[in-house]
Amino acid sequence: MSDYIVRATAANASIRAFAVNAKEMVETARIDHNTSPVITAALGRLLAAGAMMGSMMKGEKDVLTLRIQCSGPAKGLTVTADSHGNVKGFASNPDVDLPPKAQGKLDVGGALDLGVLSVIKDMGLKEPYVGQCQLQTGEIAEDLTYYFATSEQTPSAVGLGVLVEKDGSVKQAGGFILQLMPYTSDEVIEKLEKRIAEMDTVTNMLERGLSPEGILEEILGDFGLEITDTLDTQFYCDCSKAKVSRALSTINKKDLDDIINDGESIEVKCQFCNKAYNFEIEELKAIREA
Ligand SMILES: [Zn+2]
Repeated sequence: MSDYIVRATAANASIRAFAVNAKEMVETARIDHNTSPVITAALGRLLAAGAMMGSMMKGEKDVLTLRIQCSGPAKGLTVTADSHGNVKGFASNPDVDLPPKAQGKLDVGGALDLGVLSVIKDMGLKEPYVGQCQLQTGEIAEDLTYYFATSEQTPSAVGLGVLVEKDGSVKQAGGFILQLMPYTSDEVIEKLEKRIAEMDTVTNMLERGLSPEGILEEILGDFGLEITDTLDTQFYCDCSKAKVSRALSTINKKDLDDIINDGESIEVKCQFCNKAYNFEIEELKAIREA
């Protein structure tokens, strides 16, 4: 089963809802970046959120970036998504090993610790939109909930979960985002708060075999849930040798000269997908002259 996002509304469109299964994309990220379990969980949660938040954007060419800069051993996470379900990302340090928390839970908050979450939306305008907030728990779902409330003035509930197998592969990954529209009635808000306080965790719901539709049905089934559409989503990197060349052409000439003078071809890796591109001296010289 491949990954997809479900978009829905509830309570006469006063709630909008998103859910995703993200197992394949998180497993692809894990293999590409060789992430340790706690980083698989951290990056996986941010990828699942990024996929859903990307799908909230309206423009064909809009690009969303979620960036966490933090003092914990993970150092940082970056995820970029478009509005078509394509998402990619990396951790600044993919190899963090921390003891699990109670109940064997991976310590994502410990891997991130204190930091800043930035949400950058490039909608083709002169300046991108940038919203920022301090990390609240470093568990990512709570941090995004806080971001939506403070930066976008949108009361939201965010649930994200990644379950890692003993061998390090991804067993389950997914999440949901619920957002209240300004005209949501107090009655609906109260009922929803109660529901969210009582409901199962995302990983438990995925372990019970619930699809994204099933997750939304479980939370919003008696709120008049209406599924709007579904959208395929995947880990996808659009890097190419041409793009990496352009990046190389922006480093300073002196550094490029040093590489050329070393006389050996170099390998440049795409930071988003870790794909390696080889550059021969002649190619580096051409970039230097361009
Ligand atoms: Zn790439």
